[in-house]
Amino acid sequence: MPDRCVDTTTLTVLNPATEDVVATVPAADAADTDRAVRRAVTAQRAWAAAAPADRARLLRRFADTVDAHLEELAQLEVREAGHLVGNARWEAGNVRDLLLYAAGGAERLNGAQIPAPGGWNITFHEPLGVVGIIAPWNFPMPIAAWGTAPALAAGNAVVLKPAETTPLTALRLAELALDAGLPEHVFQVLPGHGSVTGRALVDHPDVAKVVFTGSTRTGREVMERCAARVKPVTLELGGKSPNVVFADADLGRALDPFSFLDNSGQDCCARTRILVQESVYEEAVARLTDAIGAVVVGDPLDEKTQMGPLISRRQLDRVRHFVKDDAPGPRGTAPTGPGFWFPPTVLTGEAADSRAAVEEIFGPVAVLLPFTDEADAVRLADATPYGLSGSIWTRDVGRALRVSAAVRAGNLSVNSHSSVRYWTPFGGFKQSGLGRELGPDALTAFTETKNVFLSTEA
Ligand code: NDP
Repeated sequence: MPDRCVDTTTLTVLNPATEDVVATVPAADAADTDRAVRRAVTAQRAWAAAAPADRARLLRRFADTVDAHLEELAQLEVREAGHLVGNARWEAGNVRDLLLYAAGGAERLNGAQIPAPGGWNITFHEPLGVVGIIAPWNFPMPIAAWGTAPALAAGNAVVLKPAETTPLTALRLAELALDAGLPEHVFQVLPGHGSVTGRALVDHPDVAKVVFTGSTRTGREVMERCAARVKPVTLELGGKSPNVVFADADLGRALDPFSFLDNSGQDCCARTRILVQESVYEEAVARLTDAIGAVVVGDPLDEKTQMGPLISRRQLDRVRHFVKDDAPGPRGTAPTGPGFWFPPTVLTGEAADSRAAVEEIFGPVAVLLPFTDEADAVRLADATPYGLSGSIWTRDVGRALRVSAAVRAGNLSVNSHSSVRYWTPFGGFKQSGLGRELGPDALTAFTETKNVFLSTEA
């Protein structure tokens, strides 16, 4: 059974829990990409000219249509991405909520009036044109919507390339957009290979901005290609987020294994570096051993399952490469094939600068490392090229604020493992990315600001 498609003209979508073929989808080539972008250029002009209230109304109708198909979208996400059915329902709901949030933004995308001697400046937020969005496989629906919803609300057209392993929910969303009454070609989905469709989209002269979510390695290439054309780019890249646990913390909550096991660890915000004050290190090992030993891994459609499979054999091989069979540390259990299964794992014997402790594994694997004091905790928290997310656990408010200020990461939580809310800005420091998505400024990221000076001279 192929893990990924073997030719460049089709994508074979496998169910990660069973390895059954879910669908075969034609892959767009460079010529298809060019045609899609040209259609988008024409469609965008009319979309941008529509009254903001009309764009908002259509996006709300799109949200309602997603809501009416929530279960269908969730089931599709389970089959193509192996997500737990409860999580997949949440993800479809997140698309709906994002569309509603962005729709409101369309009606509030106001400029400013700035007085000047002899006249007035008037600023406008104009749409960019056609936005190219390249999405990953780990959260196919929400991440597709993170860029698409505000870009459309601001008057842009979107051409979205989903990951080749997970094109189905994105294709269905494009159909639902048409059902909701969005004009043709304002939102197009182009399934294809990153090296063909992704590159063609990034390089296309009529794509005004690229939003990329995925690995730092590919993000670097996308940025170089954008640089050649001085094209703006937003990058949401990898993470290796710390979970900093001081001895005074609520250890039960702080050491919740789902802080790194959610989505089988295929989460750029996963707290995969558990940094524990040395006085509670042994207790942490005992708690994590019990906790991951109790995690139910299996069929994502069973509501009792707590962790599903990895996305693909390639990802399974990648995780295995990082975790040697005899590496010390507690393990949970996982089914044996078919499907791409790996047990919940905590590594206790890793040096702080080992590859497993520093590189993004993107599987259900965390490293546990001791620290001595606050300064040591901050040093360790920052000891990776990444800076996306992280948690700080302590009952000392002053220490929580000092450590939050010191750690170089875009999204931190104190006494919580939450990272992403569509109404707050999200993005990374260091090699975790460039720019911000979501939050109140999400729409302006898809506009150019124009200033017009109006003379009042008689
Ligand atoms: P990639 O970064 O290669 O893929 C992300 C998206 O970019 C996919 O749609 C992919 O298409 C596309 N793409 C690939 N190459 C190019 C290119 N040259 N130009 C434009 N687009 C391209 O991630 P992988 O799927 O290979 O995953 C590898 C690792 O990346 C993971 O193990 C994980 O560490 C990390 N990752 C991190 C994510 C995050 O959210 N931070 C998300 C996904 C991965 P295609 O699917 O066809 O390859």
